[in-house]
Amino acid sequence: MSTLEIRNLHVTVETPEGTKEILKGVDLTINSGETHAIMGPNGSGKSTLAYSIAGHPKYEITEGSVTLDGEDVLEMSVDERAKAGLFLAMQYPVEVPGVSVSNFLRTAKTAIDGEAPKLRTWVKDVKGAMENLRMDPAFGERGVNEGFSGGEKKRHEILQMELLQPKISILDETDSGLDVDALRIVSEGVNRAKDNTGLGIMLITHYTRILNYIRPDYVHVFVNGRVAEEGGPELAERLEAEGYDRYLASA
Ligand code: ADP
Ligand code: MG
Ligand code: MG
Repeated sequence: MSTLEIRNLHVTVETPEGTKEILKGVDLTINSGETHAIMGPNGSGKSTLAYSIAGHPKYEITEGSVTLDGEDVLEMSVDERAKAGLFLAMQYPVEVPGVSVSNFLRTAKTAIDGEAPKLRTWVKDVKGAMENLRMDPAFGERGVNEGFSGGEKKRHEILQMELLQPKISILDETDSGLDVDALRIVSEGVNRAKDNTGLGIMLITHYTRILNYIRPDYVHVFVNGRVAEEGGPELAERLEAEGYDRYLASA
């Protein structure tokens, strides 16, 4: 059982116009086995929350805390965050040209576990995970994110997640740019990880579509760098019908 706890998180970025506060006191707790949907209009700070937890150097934490099972995440290096059990799938994944997917996966697994995976089971695990995600085995020999389509990037992220077996996963707009078939396959991967390992999930999304496949236990509406409203799955249904106008009028 793991807990990611975000308390009163304030985050700024440097812009040409000066320092800008993007997150203005975010509180959020995610336990193992729970799926939390973070929804909200464009520019409300959803990705900033993901990047801040990931340790992206552009985002300065000016107040508040992030802990994983009581350990201070903000004091950890990016590698240490992954080792501690945090997984972050970014809205815009980076290319790692010259490093093949299979090498990348094995290196990441070795770094996170502190020892190389047993070759025979590892090869079988990778093959099985790729089959589950309907990925061509040849994909393993391609450079990481090099020339990947939007759908391939998302599948690659979920492949990583299934193999690295994190405790808490942050998925930023994993639904963007996916057709219905790819969305279903990717969602099945997320649900499998949840069922198999009790993964806790922060699912960031602008649209309610993915929530038809990955059922959230909690929904948090993000507006202007804060959680404006929280509820259960019924809140997503209301957003589907009403959109974000109501929040924006009062923001
Ligand atoms: P969302 O993911 O909800 O669409 P973001 O977190 O991407 O929102 O952005 C929130 C606000 O912060 C936006 O106004 C955006 O322009 C600004 N912002 C985010 N990152 C940066 C950055 N690195 N430099 C300048 N402004 C940024
Ligand atoms: Mg505050
Ligand atoms: Mg975003």
